[in-house]
Amino acid sequence: MERYDYILAGGGAAGLSLAYRMMHGGLDDARVLIVDLAEKDRNDRTWCFWSDREELLDPIVSHRWSHIWFHGPQRSHRWALNPYEYRMIRGIDFYTLVRQDLAGRARVDTVNGRIAEIVDGRISDGSPAEVILEDGRRFAGDWVFDSLFLPRDFTVDTRRYHFLKQHFVGWFVRTREPVFDPDAATMFDLRVPQRGAFRFMYLLPTSPTESLVEYTLFSERLLEREEYEGEIRSYMEIHYPGVEYEVVEAEDGIIPMTDQPFPRRGGERIMYIGTKGGRVKASTGFAFHRMQRDADAIVASLRDHGNPFQVPGPPRRYATFDAMLLSILHRRGEFASQRVFVDLFERNPLPRLWRFLNEDGGLGENIALMSTVPWGPFIAAWFRVRARRLFRRRGSRRDATGASR
Ligand SMILES: Cc1cc2nc3c(=O)[nH]c(=O)nc-3n(C[C@H](O)[C@H](O)[C@H](O)COP(=O)(O)OP(=O)(O)OC[C@H]3O[C@@H](n4cnc5c(N)ncnc54)[C@H](O)[C@@H]3O)c2cc1C
Repeated sequence: MERYDYILAGGGAAGLSLAYRMMHGGLDDARVLIVDLAEKDRNDRTWCFWSDREELLDPIVSHRWSHIWFHGPQRSHRWALNPYEYRMIRGIDFYTLVRQDLAGRARVDTVNGRIAEIVDGRISDGSPAEVILEDGRRFAGDWVFDSLFLPRDFTVDTRRYHFLKQHFVGWFVRTREPVFDPDAATMFDLRVPQRGAFRFMYLLPTSPTESLVEYTLFSERLLEREEYEGEIRSYMEIHYPGVEYEVVEAEDGIIPMTDQPFPRRGGERIMYIGTKGGRVKASTGFAFHRMQRDADAIVASLRDHGNPFQVPGPPRRYATFDAMLLSILHRRGEFASQRVFVDLFERNPLPRLWRFLNEDGGLGENIALMSTVPWGPFIAAWFRVRARRLFRRRGSRRDATGASR
């Protein structure tokens, strides 16, 4: 059985980001294996994130927006993002960049196959972890980074935690005439019927005639495909009347939004990364930029401590903010779209909001931001979050007593 220093079980956003950053972060002499069931030769998604600095992946950024549109129920705004930019990376460009970078490295292998099982090893006796494929191939590794997240197997204890799905269908449309504003991404267009949940349209125009138009909901229940597509169609009719367009590509997705903790350790030698490692921000669904930071932190931990687990987390208060926002989105999704998000965007300088969403802002800045949202629902949400925490604590005490009997 071949033995590696690091095995990436899953070579999607998190796995490939980590492999790439290992190679560019001083671990390029390590023996590395990447296992994925897919060839990653399709543009299966696009990732966007905001940043105010140069980033390692800048060479493959396919579009940058210096402005955003925000359409609330009453007013529309076009704001400059300065000093931030909203950047887009196409999945296929990312996969190609990493594949080409790794192809030239003698100590890196990639294997195409379905992983059936990952078995932990023991640090005390030096036994490695093992990655076992469905076809029987086995690989040993000192550390295994597992990003095999299966939405259908994912469950949340909803008595104790909030759980919403961010679900969407997007069309990449091409119009005959120039109608889009390629300097401004539409983060939220809330002028769509809310029907009791938080719903919005998200637009990423890459030229005056090309844009992603995506219908997105934060809710518990998924829709039928025709419902998402019907909403996109009627949005185009209302906001671009008479404009002819063709759909050149489509994307869809379901991203979990929950305050249930995601364990980072899958065992002594297994670390969870990506969605499986809780890198999706619970209240927004943004993950890609967080995975880049996480990958850098893991590389630093491996280099400095010889294990991957010494990664700093954000201050605890951000988990509370996420839980409060989730609670409001869950109970009063329509109110969130009519008031909370409108206040967050209209009553804060954008850099403050971006720092908050990137979990970078200091406590003073967080308080300034929270003072701009309607207090009543947030105070009620805070009590609900505290109540759930108490319920969880009691529950785990009860479980512990039961277990010791
Ligand atoms: C369409 C879409 C658009 C998104 N856009 C954004 C965005 O704009 N900004 C943002 O921050 N986030 C975005 N996200 C959320 C998040 O960044 C992505 O979902 C991201 O790809 C998650 O990374 P991951 O590594 O956890 O999972 P993935 O990228 O899905 O990687 C998991 C990998 O594991 C492989 N795999 C699964 N099971 C097995 C198995 N048994 N054996 C072998 N391999 C296996 C899969 O083939 C896949 O390559 C988006 C998500 C989707 C679906």
